[in-house]
Amino acid sequence: MSMIGICSLCGRPATSTCPICGRLVCGKDSDPITGVCKACSGKQTKSSRLT
Ligand SMILES: [Zn+2]
Ligand SMILES: [Zn+2]
Repeated sequence: MSMIGICSLCGRPATSTCPICGRLVCGKDSDPITGVCKACSGKQTKSSRLT
């Protein structure tokens, strides 16, 4: 198991990087298929509006 960093969401050892926000996330907090983290998958991207 290669540890690349610390999960930005829970602090556990991260195993992947979110393709959207680029933050390190563990397998528990990221989608196993898309690799998108919970923070990004949770909010539905209606439009690319950054506030
Ligand atoms: Zn996590
Ligand atoms: Zn993300």
